[in-house]
Amino acid sequence: MLIIKNTLDYLNIYQAQLENKKIGFVPTMGFLHEGHLSLVKESVKNNQITIVSIFINPTQFVKGEDFATYPKNTEHDLKLLEANNVDIVFIPEAEDLYPPDHKSLIKIEINQNFTNKLCGKHRRGHFGGVALIVMKLFSIIQADNAYFGLKDYQQYVLIKNLSLDFFPRTKIHALPTIRESSGLAMSSRNTYLNDKEKKLASLIYATLLKFTEIIKISKTINQEELIKAFEALLLKESTAFELQYLEIYDDTLNKIKKYKKNQTFIGTAVYLNNVRLIDNLIF
Ligand code: AMP
Repeated sequence: MLIIKNTLDYLNIYQAQLENKKIGFVPTMGFLHEGHLSLVKESVKNNQITIVSIFINPTQFVKGEDFATYPKNTEHDLKLLEANNVDIVFIPEAEDLYPPDHKSLIKIEINQNFTNKLCGKHRRGHFGGVALIVMKLFSIIQADNAYFGLKDYQQYVLIKNLSLDFFPRTKIHALPTIRESSGLAMSSRNTYLNDKEKKLASLIYATLLKFTEIIKISKTINQEELIKAFEALLLKESTAFELQYLEIYDDTLNKIKKYKKNQTFIGTAVYLNNVRLIDNLIF
């Protein structure tokens, strides 16, 4: 497994060895878990070369978020990647991707139709930062296939569109959310939770599931009523919960009034003692 720490080194290796190979790419922020590894395994299975990037991207963190304390254990990550037959790990420094003396004239502004919902609405500027880093990484890596988790559904929709606009050669693949046996969606940020909180956090998924059943039966979608009921159910379990949003769309994130089988999206962000957790389902 090759560890590459800057763009120029990667480009040299690309020209010398990779240009004619089928490349699969899995971008991550590290502190890897089974969710990340499911993407890695899919890439290894379907490509000649798998490249995983580990980069805690400063531009996608909003003011007041956990950029400075985001969990990190690169040594352990590398062991997991090696054991999963990854070929190249790209671990750039921030100065490599965002050179301090380079004042980019490009600013990425995402359409408000997209950023006025879900995480876009509550993390102003987040998706501009995601788009920026994905455009940088895609331009460098030049992958045939790139793998993303449905856990971050809005991010997946953004990247799918970004790729259609700017990277037609890179096919975007979305993979299901990997969960703990309790149902809790795996996330690097789960490390902020103690055992009791983890148990409580699993209620988010359980409650989402319950709501999919309710919507399937009632067929109509009354957001307001559903939000109230969702919040009440969580708060009944613990006052440590604070609902940030519960939103329902079709699977392209457009508004819907009626349930559409296998094309309905329900997504939520919930604070549990200041730890922000997201989850969603397509049903
Ligand atoms: P992150 O390191 O959080 O930026 O995530 C890197 C990639 O892993 C993204 O495409 C995520 O959607 C994906 N991912 C994170 N958690 C999970 C999970 N529990 N199941 C599947 N994919 C995940």
